[in-house]
Amino acid sequence: MARKMADPSQPKPEWFGRVRYFEKNLPAMVQSIREWVEIESHSDDKAAADSMSAMLGQRFAELGGQPKAHRARDYADHLQIDFPGARERKPVLLLGHFDTVYPLGTLAHMPCHTENGRLYGPGVLDMKSGIGLMFHAIQALQSWHGKLPRPITVFLVSDEEVGSSSSRKITEELAKESGAVLVLEPAAGTRGAVKTARKGVGEYTLAVKGIAAHAGLDPAKGHSAIVELARQITAIAKLNDLRSGVTVNPGVIRGGTRTNVIAAEATVEIDARIQKASQARGLDRKLRALKPKDKRCTLTLEGGINRLPMERTTGVAALYAKAKSIAQQIGWKLEEAAVGGGSDGNFTAGIGIPTLDGMGGVGEGAHAIHEHIIISDLPRRAALLAGMIESA
Ligand SMILES: [Zn+2]
Repeated sequence: MARKMADPSQPKPEWFGRVRYFEKNLPAMVQSIREWVEIESHSDDKAAADSMSAMLGQRFAELGGQPKAHRARDYADHLQIDFPGARERKPVLLLGHFDTVYPLGTLAHMPCHTENGRLYGPGVLDMKSGIGLMFHAIQALQSWHGKLPRPITVFLVSDEEVGSSSSRKITEELAKESGAVLVLEPAAGTRGAVKTARKGVGEYTLAVKGIAAHAGLDPAKGHSAIVELARQITAIAKLNDLRSGVTVNPGVIRGGTRTNVIAAEATVEIDARIQKASQARGLDRKLRALKPKDKRCTLTLEGGINRLPMERTTGVAALYAKAKSIAQQIGWKLEEAAVGGGSDGNFTAGIGIPTLDGMGGVGEGAHAIHEHIIISDLPRRAALLAGMIESA
């Protein structure tokens, strides 16, 4: 129960007690996270990720939650767990994902292990430690209060790393029923900042069709899709506008068949990011306005902006202010950050529900071989999450 505090700037001993509670429980917290890292759950492997989903459902059910699987065809089933609590308040939505970017078998050469106070392993930062924080914060609230101070909805999706196409609707529906959304994605940087703004993200593919010809016998008859693509890529790169936060990255190119054939086809896949929702249209229009320089080539553009930006609305700022004042109780100056990557928090903030992201683990190397979390940061983050569940 969040008691009325006379002077919120003065640290309160009860908050230190809470951090100590989680310090005592740290081995159990690390054990949960480790167990879940050791179940591989690549987005594209439904069978493997389904066992992760089932195992998490079981664990949260043991805490008294009501698990519900949302069937998905191409990805693992998304997992919703409802916890009853004091009814007069809207639920808080704890949002996360259990899929990872690591193909099955990654554990063999990237085993989960601790070293220098860090826990390493595929998906440990992004974001199995976030799920661990949810689990242990709920457990703590139950033991402190007897019952939960408000209803909690945990929603863990299986397709976040691949764009959340099959979970997005459910995420938005659950957010609409909630008073606030706390996203347990990794914190920003090793100082553990929460994320109050995220860029919007899109993906485009530009395909060029040219005219094939023998490079030696008929060079004049060919119209190279590769040469045309090269010109288009130069034009696309010019759309970068770092100052306004619009970036485009022609990240993957393909084309041609043999060196002695003038290429008939070539494509580029483009990552696009925007800082404000209002920039989506303009960027889209510019990409669609690309014209072939070689008139015998044709261009086809597919794709679009998938996640609109999470903007720092007043609702977002108010949640951050609460988090900051809770952190202050334990002598912690909680920072905020605006980041370039998108998450499902973009969806919930996009429909106007106050959202605070980056509430999860602290570490480095998401999606990389050295992915890890800093173990000693877990207790205060769990205390912060518990406090936010109470008061957000
Ligand atoms: Zn993530």
